[in-house]
Amino acid sequence: MSHTVELLSVGTELLLGSIVNTDARDISEMLTALGLNVYYHTVVGDNPARMKAAVALARQRADVIITTGGLGPTCDDLTKVVLAEAFGKKLVFHPQSAERIKAFFQRIGRTMTENNLQQAMLPEGCTVLDNDWGTAPGCAFQAGDNYVVMLPGPPSECIPMFRERAIPWLAQLSEGVICSRTLKVFGSGEAEVEYLLRDKMNALTNPTLAPYCKEGEMELRITAKAADQDTAQAMIDPVEAEVREILGTKIYGVDVSGLEEVVLRELKARGLTMGTAESCTGGLIAKRITDLPGSSAVLKGGIVSYTNEVKHNVLGVPADLLEEKGAVCAEVARAMAAGARRVLGCDIAVSVTGVAGPDSDDRGNPVGLVYVGLSAADADEVRELHLAGTANRRDRVRQHAAHHAFDMIRLYLMDHPVQN
Ligand code: ATP
Ligand code: MG
Repeated sequence: MSHTVELLSVGTELLLGSIVNTDARDISEMLTALGLNVYYHTVVGDNPARMKAAVALARQRADVIITTGGLGPTCDDLTKVVLAEAFGKKLVFHPQSAERIKAFFQRIGRTMTENNLQQAMLPEGCTVLDNDWGTAPGCAFQAGDNYVVMLPGPPSECIPMFRERAIPWLAQLSEGVICSRTLKVFGSGEAEVEYLLRDKMNALTNPTLAPYCKEGEMELRITAKAADQDTAQAMIDPVEAEVREILGTKIYGVDVSGLEEVVLRELKARGLTMGTAESCTGGLIAKRITDLPGSSAVLKGGIVSYTNEVKHNVLGVPADLLEEKGAVCAEVARAMAAGARRVLGCDIAVSVTGVAGPDSDDRGNPVGLVYVGLSAADADEVRELHLAGTANRRDRVRQHAAHHAFDMIRLYLMDHPVQN
């Protein structure tokens, strides 16, 4: 039998939009790895009647109910009261938890008020989930066909509690694990990937292969269900190999956040540096690489050369070229990259010049026409992009252009393997 889970997040703040339900996301991710199927996320406010209704629904459609929030000492913390009543359990005083709560307050040097001992009232016969990260203990119990786990709301308590207390309790219910591996794809449209892989995707059941579209790129997720991690990973390996056979270098990474992460890693591995000259991306490439820790080892700097004046004065783009052809052309992209490499003293420089929109430029170049350049001692390349069809919003044009700049660096580096 496979278990189904409903997460019941309790808290009016969640409904008001004051906080994001990160507990649900983080717990879902861990539940999936445990091989439990998460079917529903429900959010309910601190209101006993609506909570009761939510529990009544949850117990019908899931066998495991995991609640977060509302375990604290204040009068709006109702989760235990409502759940205990719903499952016909009395709340009883749990002396060990009371002692732990007192000790916690002593440790942090604060006086404890009486209502804190409310937190030591727990459903009779439950497994107490000790809270080493705060005061409110969690609890878990079985009632008929249902399993109930209650966790405190603050993520600093909820997540370690889930990991260290709830998982061992839930492990007895789980049969096997689910593992997935994500291949990141750049340079192929969704339709093309779908076309190339459709038969394979349809034929596979375990592991499964599923495409996910991201901004300007794609993810292919291979997911296997097996008795243990090693078996699942071994099932994933041949599927990855087959997909690589078909998509080749369009797969830029496995389980990575984005192109910039791969570029950072590969530059580091070769001891090379990069720099940027950006017009319509306004520093986005430099921003994206500096978002990553460790980028100081590879990024020399970046120039936002928005005006022709700066393109000429700083980067040395010939004035007559700018005059004659305008800023948006392959030659200017080439000259910007070469100029940036010289001025910044880096091994590889990339440049972007184009029309991000919403309007075409004064020479009538359409929105989405972008030139991305790359300059290195042995390379001098330009990509001409027409991004308007798929991406006509200003920041999408910019994001896609930045993707291409990173992709050009990545492919250049693939042609220059690490020397041992
Ligand atoms: P406390 O003992 O702190 O009162 P609690 O178990 O009663 O804990 P809540 O009162 O519901 O939890 O929430 C306390 C805080 O925890 C919220 O103000 C919020 O910052 C955070 N929090 C609660 N639920 C979530 C959630 N689902 N995702 C992320 N943060 C949450
Ligand atoms: Mg509370």
